[in-house]
Amino acid sequence: MFVVSEIEPCRLAVLDARRDGRRTGLVLTMGALHEGHVSLLRAARRRCDFVAVTIFVNPTQFGPGEDLDDYPVTLEADLEACRGEGVDLVFTPTVATMYPKGDVTTVHVAGLTEGLCGAHRSGHFDGVTTVVAKLFEILPTDLAFFGEKDYQQLLVIRQMAGDLHLPIQIVGCPIVREPDGLAMSSRNRKLSPQQRIQAVSLSRALHAAAKRVRDKERDVERLVQTMTDQIKKAGHAQIDYIEVVDAVTLAPLVRIDRSARACVAVRIGSCRLIDNIALDVPDAGG
Ligand code: AMP
Repeated sequence: MFVVSEIEPCRLAVLDARRDGRRTGLVLTMGALHEGHVSLLRAARRRCDFVAVTIFVNPTQFGPGEDLDDYPVTLEADLEACRGEGVDLVFTPTVATMYPKGDVTTVHVAGLTEGLCGAHRSGHFDGVTTVVAKLFEILPTDLAFFGEKDYQQLLVIRQMAGDLHLPIQIVGCPIVREPDGLAMSSRNRKLSPQQRIQAVSLSRALHAAAKRVRDKERDVERLVQTMTDQIKKAGHAQIDYIEVVDAVTLAPLVRIDRSARACVAVRIGSCRLIDNIALDVPDAGG
């Protein structure tokens, strides 16, 4: 496994693999790898002959007062996990390498970034799309794998890649959960035992909403109420949002009359957790 923190050798390694006729895949991460990340590595390994991973805690996607300084770093364990999954290349740049002139140039995706996390984390998605565009240039792979855990991010990146005519295919991968339902996240390790119990309320709420939809509930206000009740009864939490949106446009819905997504963002102590679930209705026609 080739571990590199400079741009040119990284780009050359990907281009060499492509020249050899290998199908190349990319998994972008901020490190502190867990089974959710590993599922992306495996998806990439299944579909590609060469798998590249990036480990970079991107400062520009954190707002003032967010947990940048506190973000978990476990580089040695991460490299071990990558080795174990047969990763070919790991790119671990410094901030100075990624932003040699600061953040003068940015990539902005309008529309999809306005609601949900975009409404609560000012500048977050500009930070994400800018770093992802840079990483796509540095690691010009055929495919890139992203988790549905960050559902809005997945749609935003797909939009960006399409609009900028980037020759890369964006592949979405399902959310990996703990046995009790909590969506895996690098931030979960910051939860106290008490908060860890409380955190299960997010996935419980989402699954309760999905069940109500299967039982023919179509009214979004009532679904949001169900989710809010579940989360509030688990203990004090600051709710950023609990929403049901169109699964393609992320526009808020009043009734579930098309493919939808329930999305939640909740702060438990200093931890901001997000999760989402598909709400599919057979009679919706997509
Ligand atoms: P992060 O390191 O949190 O920036 O995440 C890197 C990638 O892993 C993103 O594409 C995430 O959506 C994905 N990811 C994080 N947690 C999970 C999870 N529980 N299941 C599936 N994918 C995940």
